[in-house]
Amino acid sequence: MKAIRRFTVRPVLPEPLQPLSDLARNLRWSWHTETQQLFQAADPEGWRPADADPVRLLGAVSAGRLTELAGDQHFLRRLAEVSDDLRQYVSGPRWYQNQLSQGAELPAAVAYFSPEFGVTAALPQYSGGLGILAGDHLKAASDLGVPLIGVGLLYRHGYFRQSLSRDGWQQEHYPVLDPDELPLTLVREPDGSPSRVVLALPGGRSLHASIWQAQVGRVPLLLLDSDVEENAPGERDVTDRLYGGGSDHRLLQEMLLGIGGVRAVRTYCRLTGHPVPEVFHTNEGHAGFLGLERIRELSETGLDFDAALEVVRAGTVFTTHTPVPAGIDRFERQLVARHFGDDGELPGVGVERILPLGMETYPGGEPGLFNMAVMGLRLAQRANGVSTLHGAVSREMFSGLWPGFDPSEVPITSVTNGVHAPTWVAPEVLRLGARKFGTERAGNALAGAEVGETSGAETDDGGRTGTPRRWSAVAAVPDQEIWDLRRGLREQLVTEVRKRLYASWRRRGAGTAELDWIDGVLDPDVLTIGFARRVPSYKRLTLMLHDRDRLRALLLHPTHPIQIVVAGKAHPADDGGKRLVQELVRFADDPRVRHRIVFLPDYGMAMAQKLYPGCDVWLNNPLRPLEACGTSGMKAALNGCLNLSVRDGWWDEWFEPDFGWAIPTADGSATNEDRRDELEANALYSLIEDRVAPRFYDRNARDLPERWIEMVRRTLVTLGPKVLAGRMVREYVERLYAPAALARRALQPATARELAGWKARIHAAWPDVAVDHVEAAADTVVGGSAELGSTLALRVRIALGGLEPDDVEVQVVAGRVDSADAIAEVQTFPLKPAGGHDLEGRWLYEGPLALDRTGPYGYTVRVLPSHPLLASGAELGLVAVPNASTGEGGGVLLR
Ligand SMILES: *Cc1c(COP(=O)(O)O)cnc(C)c1O
Repeated sequence: MKAIRRFTVRPVLPEPLQPLSDLARNLRWSWHTETQQLFQAADPEGWRPADADPVRLLGAVSAGRLTELAGDQHFLRRLAEVSDDLRQYVSGPRWYQNQLSQGAELPAAVAYFSPEFGVTAALPQYSGGLGILAGDHLKAASDLGVPLIGVGLLYRHGYFRQSLSRDGWQQEHYPVLDPDELPLTLVREPDGSPSRVVLALPGGRSLHASIWQAQVGRVPLLLLDSDVEENAPGERDVTDRLYGGGSDHRLLQEMLLGIGGVRAVRTYCRLTGHPVPEVFHTNEGHAGFLGLERIRELSETGLDFDAALEVVRAGTVFTTHTPVPAGIDRFERQLVARHFGDDGELPGVGVERILPLGMETYPGGEPGLFNMAVMGLRLAQRANGVSTLHGAVSREMFSGLWPGFDPSEVPITSVTNGVHAPTWVAPEVLRLGARKFGTERAGNALAGAEVGETSGAETDDGGRTGTPRRWSAVAAVPDQEIWDLRRGLREQLVTEVRKRLYASWRRRGAGTAELDWIDGVLDPDVLTIGFARRVPSYKRLTLMLHDRDRLRALLLHPTHPIQIVVAGKAHPADDGGKRLVQELVRFADDPRVRHRIVFLPDYGMAMAQKLYPGCDVWLNNPLRPLEACGTSGMKAALNGCLNLSVRDGWWDEWFEPDFGWAIPTADGSATNEDRRDELEANALYSLIEDRVAPRFYDRNARDLPERWIEMVRRTLVTLGPKVLAGRMVREYVERLYAPAALARRALQPATARELAGWKARIHAAWPDVAVDHVEAAADTVVGGSAELGSTLALRVRIALGGLEPDDVEVQVVAGRVDSADAIAEVQTFPLKPAGGHDLEGRWLYEGPLALDRTGPYGYTVRVLPSHPLLASGAELGLVAVPNASTGEGGGVLLR
């Protein structure tokens, strides 16, 4: 029978057990082993390590057991200890507070917006890497004491749960999540009524949302939920699913996230006294409307649009996450215009000012579309990609927004992603460290090194052991111990795989009697390769199937066999992706190989936490350079799993043959995609056959694969300290948040107006700015060559239109030139004004150019706008260079 109403009956904890409730509601438990062990002790049967959830556990534990625990002195002592630990963790000084006390100028708070957050499997509000990264960002910020507020949406169905039909076609399920059963608290006004965020929609409608708060260690995460009574049915569904629905739906979600998110932050700060964010960070473009809402707020204080735009830009950081067009939201301009028109959401902010922010005004751009990433870049003074390579790819991809500049000068930097070690390192690996250092504490410090090191001198270990040293301690762990650990982890994975495979086959309709073979699936002594990620086409789930005979031969090799565990969800609207899943499933269903290759449905955090540690090799074969960073390989590495990957994203940056393999890529050379797949698949097979498998099976007299173990060690020692989310968040703080906060503080209203006025003046005058004449002293370059170490004296005449020398910087741009005279490895040197302007209004600039390198060399001269509040010379996208057609003043070439 079906219930007509449902509600949640909350457990009443006996007084001595009250602290359990706080421990369950702070998601720190998800990366804190002692807290997990406490809950496990509370209800050993009810605790399911795979998808642990203390809130659910407390809801299910019997009243009798609670009474028993309330009288159990041993349990109560542990409870007091763990509660104390949490209290200290959330209130004591950490790295950020130490920086402040040493005089660092850092933001009072940062608001971090993301469409998805993967904090724990118990709060399924993520689809893949972007969300998990956001979760790791919050956790690392918490460990470091960074005053961050996370902002997102609460999706009533989360993403989807994946299962398979009998013939391997992806099935999607959308279980309803009841917020009362999730680790969430409703944000309420002082009178007890739930706080509301309201957005006006066209046609007099409005969109209401409540605010749920998840607590991630020290960091509050605010999630907006449109499923409230005040809404009409259509509006109630705005936050139904992550990445579902058409563009109308997506636009409403993104308006709620960006605009509603800022209002939720204001509400939260008003109610709790939390410091007000000085910096807003948008994780990908989806939350970009947050900038418009802040412009609206400022316009209510009397700032005009342009001045408000400057203030908002100064305090905004935009992170772009993908060079794949499908990953970037673009809306019909008309749709956006409708929502921001006169009766729309932001009446004080003219739609004629909003639309140009998202226009693709560059060659190849679509004039009819509004691009959220483009708006993100225009609303943020600081922007970054997520690996060194992705930074370069992004500068190239968006270079049209800064015409006249080489891609290398486009103001998009990069911060390479990282992962939160305490979340992703298996407890067994932690314990390895513990044995080494004698205490559980030290083990935590090893794998969660970022916690100890970054929390500063006062905590943990007195600051004596820096992160790299802790990691290098792995070098001293004996071969046998490492190998026993690896085998143990592999064995656990085998058990887990069989369990999941069995459940999957039952769902696919198989009877129990047909499934005996599953007991023989995978072998704890066979080289195990993992491949799990979302299934967009660029990640090439089925590259390994390119030559099926060859793959079968690798799986069934008589002495050097491999086994492969595959997982991944295709987007529900992506039939192409579902076909790839089906191809893989069908291959793995074949009785000849099904004991050596499996596809596990419903990839998510819980599975990932088992999968990375249990694999020997983590495979990644994207179409370079479309993988912006990739983080699963980092999580694998932290568990001593070796990477076998195309040099894309982070692996391009940190790969070394000492600890992994690079699959050669036909990037740029192959004429078409099929040919490229063929070349790269064959390279992959050969690597496994000739290098990976032989090394794994090459045993010494003590039956240990010495050289393999050495690679495991090198992975931990070398990659360990680099791939941490703590390193990433520190970089964000130092390189982006702190400068953004300073820039924001500098822009008090008068200064903001001055800056906006200056930019307007520069734009108006720029057509008349020109490099008129360039001359070099005649005796340095003789017959087209010059001596190394000599100096070229330059004199340049510049027309400034109505501008003053203070408004510009005149630079000589020099470097090695290629055969087409393009300057590479550019260096720039400022030239100085010498005296006033001549009768024609041209200013004389002079300066030396030191010729400090040999070979073909060239230079040119350019004029850039200059103002102390600009973050980059390219910021305005304005530059004046010598007019090539006149020849006069053109770049001079030395050979
Ligand atoms: C880490 C992780 C991802 C991201 O993996 P990529 O390597 O970036 O593709 C996706 N899903 C889950 C569950 C993860 O843990």
